[in-house]
Order: sequence, then C-alpha cells, then structure tokens
Amino acid sequence: MLSEFELIARYFQRPPAPDSRTALGVGDDCALMTPAPGMQLAISSDMLVSGRHFFADADPQALGHKCLAVNLSDLAAMGAQPIAFTLALALPEADPAWLAPFSAGMLALADRHGCELIGGDTTRGPLTISITIFGEVPPQQSLRRDAARAGDDIWVSGSLGDARLALAAYRNELTLSDTELLRAAPRMHEPTPRVELGVALRGIAHAAIDISDGLAGDLGHILSRSGVGATLQVDALPPGNVLQQRELDLRRRFTLTGGDDYELCFTAPVRQRDAIQKAAHAAGVEVARVGSIEAAAGLRIVDANGQAMPLAQDSFDHFRS
Ligand code: ADP
Ligand code: MG
Repeated sequence: MLSEFELIARYFQRPPAPDSRTALGVGDDCALMTPAPGMQLAISSDMLVSGRHFFADADPQALGHKCLAVNLSDLAAMGAQPIAFTLALALPEADPAWLAPFSAGMLALADRHGCELIGGDTTRGPLTISITIFGEVPPQQSLRRDAARAGDDIWVSGSLGDARLALAAYRNELTLSDTELLRAAPRMHEPTPRVELGVALRGIAHAAIDISDGLAGDLGHILSRSGVGATLQVDALPPGNVLQQRELDLRRRFTLTGGDDYELCFTAPVRQRDAIQKAAHAAGVEVARVGSIEAAAGLRIVDANGQAMPLAQDSFDHFRS
C-alpha cells in the first residue's frame, strides 16, 4: 500500500521547470512563487466531484486532463497566462492503476501550457478533485465580465454543443451512432481550454467568459455584471461537427444551452473585427460573430430571419437539476 508521501512523490512531484516562476514547489509547508514585476495574479478554483461532474468509472487520463482544462479555461476567460496550480485530492484508495494515468493526463496538459503543479493536499475520501490555478495578466488588460459595452459585437470561439450531444447519448435522451459518439465524446471528456485565444484578446476584447454551463446562461453573467442586454442570432452559433448533422431544433437548443464546451464567449467593439480575426488566427481557433450587446436589459434570441424566439430551456444550474 502506498503511503501518502510516496503517492505524492511518485505521481505529483517533479523537478522544477527551468524558466519557472516557482521558487519552491511540492514538499514544503508552502510553495513560493515569484510573480513577474508589474503583473496582476489571476486566481481561480474549480472542484470536480465524482457522480456530480463525472461518472465514477471515468477514464482517469481524460479526467486528469479535464480537471486542469476547466481551470485553465477560467484563466483563458480572464486573458491570463497560466503559471502554476495546486491540487487537492480526496481518493477512496491509493490505486496506482488509477493514479498513473490520472497524473499523466493532468501533467501532459500542464506542460503544454507551462503551468507547474506546485503543491496541494491528499486525503482519503469520496473521489473529489479540487484545483486552484494561478495566472498572470497585465493590469487593465484582464477580460472582466463587467466590461461589456452597448454596441459591442458578441463572439464565440470554436464550436458548441457536441459535449452536450455526447451527454445526451449517455443519458439516453437521444441515439448517436458509434462513430458519432466517438467524435462527440472527446468534446465532453477532454475539452481544449482556449488559453492562447484569451491572451491574444488582451487589449482588443472588452468582456469574456468561458462557456461551461451553456452560452445563454453564461452570457447572462456578462450582461448582468455589465448592466447591459443583448441580441443573439441563434442560427449564427457554430455547432460542433456532430451536432451539425442533426435537426435544426436540436442544433439551436444545444448550441444555446448545452454545457461543458469550454469555448470563450467575448465582446469587443465593432472596430476590432479585423483584430479579433487576426488574434483568433494566431491562436489557431475559429471565431464566430453571433450577436450584439445593447443598452436594453435582457437576452433576446432571434432566428436567421430576425424573428424572436423563446428561450426554451434555461442553462444548466447545479441546484435546479
Ligand atoms: P501539510 O501537512 O503541510 O499540509 P502535506 O503533508 O499535506 O503538507 O503535503 C506535503 C507536501 O506535498 C506539500 O508541499 C503539499 O503542497 C504537497 N502535496 C500534497 N498533496 C499534493 C498533491 N495532490 N499534488 C501536489 N502536491 C501535493
Ligand atoms: Mg496538507
């Protein structure tokens, strides 16, 4: 049986990266970080609980990836560059067959973004994974939820709805072929945090949020924090490759309210349209212009003909569903 300290040393402790901001990592009472002069620290926590956020038998490598991805996505939505993270882990048992792929999935994504694991806590308990992540962003350039202005365009990165489509198949709400599920499932299990895009949007975009609970609800947070309203063109929303093949009603519903996409929704002045396209190109991701911010409060949804549509289903809410 692995002891707690063997477990940490084997799966979570690594030599410091050469150009690290970490003066002291795993092993002492605290980690020590040296922030770059003049930068603000961006800090965010996300907790994933077995049976709530993932299935108990979830593939451990994908799970390791996803736990860090959702945290990286919060930094992306702030325009922050990831630096480091801590990992608090409750485990039912110290099982190497689970820990090895879990840490491999997590640390591979960490390395891709130069984000170091600098500490954490490990305890026995129902499987729960809680990460706190640290990033840096120049003052005045963070992409805050309260920064949308009437007249801004609303943009969405990548595509929406395939994660929700995979979930629907698991829940037997609809049927997908094996090939369709194989293509949609990675969007749910191994999301791609849009870190490069978030950083590239600094100084160009006004407000941003990552889409975890569904676009309509998440955009709603920008609207209420900024004291504005919006019109969204539902048929301009970019559906995922698999959702693309489904009927119009499902496309609309899942692009608008499907969760777990971890794309960015952001607002920017009209004069920045070219700059946004260049930033997206540099970041290697497509962006779509899907609506406008308006002074009048509330979210209005219109179809391709400009006809108003009711918002059928609210976004995902942990305390209501
Ligand atoms: P303390 O008793 O001071 O809380 P711990 O014994 O919990 O310290 O942890 C020992 C060291 O290992 C600390 O540096 C802590 O940050 C680190 N650590 C514990 N669990 C993890 C983990 N899951 N991932 C990374 N580092 C961890
Ligand atoms: Mg501890």
